[in-house]
Amino acid sequence: IEDGFYYDIDLGEEVIKEEDLPKIEKEMKKISKSNKLIKRIELSKQEALDMFKNDLYKQDLISRMDENEQVISAYKQDDFIDLCRGPHMNSTKDMKYFKLLKVSGAYWKGDSNNKMLQRIYGVCFETEEDLNNYLEMLEEAKKRDHKKLGRELELFMISEYGPGFPFFLPKGMILRNELENFWYKEHAKEGYQFIKTPIMLSKELWELSGHWFNYKENMYTSNIDEKEFAIKPMNCPGGMLVYKNSMHSYRDLPIRAGELGLVHRHEKSGELNGLFRVRCFTQDDAHIFCTPEQLVDEINSIIDFVADTMDIFNMKFEVELSTRPESYVGDLKNWELAEAGLKEAMDRRGMKYEINEGDGAFYGPKIDFKVKDAIGRTWQCATIQLDFNLPERFEIKYQDKDGQLKTPVMLHRVIFGSMERFHGILIEHYAGAFPTWLAPYQTAIVPIADRHADAAAEIANKIKALGIRVLLDDRSESMNYKIRENLQHKKIPYVLVVGDKEIQDKTVAIRARGRGQIGTKPLDEFISMLEEEIKTKGKKIVE
Ligand code: ZN
Repeated sequence: IEDGFYYDIDLGEEVIKEEDLPKIEKEMKKISKSNKLIKRIELSKQEALDMFKNDLYKQDLISRMDENEQVISAYKQDDFIDLCRGPHMNSTKDMKYFKLLKVSGAYWKGDSNNKMLQRIYGVCFETEEDLNNYLEMLEEAKKRDHKKLGRELELFMISEYGPGFPFFLPKGMILRNELENFWYKEHAKEGYQFIKTPIMLSKELWELSGHWFNYKENMYTSNIDEKEFAIKPMNCPGGMLVYKNSMHSYRDLPIRAGELGLVHRHEKSGELNGLFRVRCFTQDDAHIFCTPEQLVDEINSIIDFVADTMDIFNMKFEVELSTRPESYVGDLKNWELAEAGLKEAMDRRGMKYEINEGDGAFYGPKIDFKVKDAIGRTWQCATIQLDFNLPERFEIKYQDKDGQLKTPVMLHRVIFGSMERFHGILIEHYAGAFPTWLAPYQTAIVPIADRHADAAAEIANKIKALGIRVLLDDRSESMNYKIRENLQHKKIPYVLVVGDKEIQDKTVAIRARGRGQIGTKPLDEFISMLEEEIKTKGKKIVE
């Protein structure tokens, strides 16, 4: 699997516990040292059934195999033999740097009607250094877990009354509003218009879009006036109706219609995971309609847009291009044009990308952006997806220079992907210590003693009036306790300490999160530096 390996075991009543994993590892080390050769054996179906006749599960797997279509193979080391497609290493000594990570339950074939087996997960690396780096990253990821930080920082919650439907709490809403405001502002600069399409639309629309036939098991449905309706799993069909609402000339193109659209998609309850895997989320969606000649420029400007956006969060990304699969809709000519367009746009920028040949959706090629976070994990965020299907299905047109009605090229694209998921990513990326422009509180004020409380309140009011988010911490706790709590636990970027001397000089003593004491500055100077930090999204900072 992507992050290592697992092995499923049926031990009857016997339960493997986390404490058992080191014992198993010890045994694995012994096997590794013993340098057993690993041999591949190819089998006919009957031979395989005979070989594993005491193993129900392997009998089940083998009985589903077709020996004319696939080679059935097993691997043998010493007296242990196992069914496996391979490939394997040559000797057990090749595997030295491994670690078993956890044990959990897993239904046979992932089906909850089947028996639950015990699944042990682990990782193996070529070098000790790689293994240690990975384990360190896991430790760090645990500390940054967005579910834990989301609770501690009061950003979001999930209620038992709505599994997979996150609630945003007041502090989380600040982060969210900042992100959305940023999103609207940047999109307006890029020439986008904005729309809002309904959450629920009738079954007929989802039949027209094809979702009713291809996606229905993931859609929530209901009835209105005895007619079937579905809650939208995607924003596109609504976007198509908006396009069709008026006539378009080639002069109107490209049309870039953005929508922060709330979609619902069913996920199995076992797969829900904080903000990463939810049942409702807001896509920062946009649909672009353009002429074939405009396509490369459009793709180019989206790539720029993604790069500039991720740069603000100090995130690098890798790019993958997925091309035409075996079965597809639309003209081959258009596919070739589009794929060449996507490649040209990336080549023109000197961008490196991987090509996943034949891995595109049936309706068009796409570019995926895999964003790297602060601890090196990658996340699928932005995508640019071409679509030859919906324009045909909805028969959308524009009138070209020659007076003819033509079908525009359509692009779907997201930058953050899902706002909810991106919140989760940001929480973990920053370990909850958000840059000042996003932080729920941007500065805290701590009076040294009770007699400084009024002056501290006055400073807080002055800062608040400028639209800066400030926390006045006038609790009767010790100054050092309050400084520590605000910087380290609440992760507020700055704490201003106010005492006799500061009041007399109209200054504040500044402490910065992760940087310690910065020194004492006139209040007005601090405020203008803080405003600059917020405005530049951290390119300039208070120092
Ligand atoms: Zn779309």
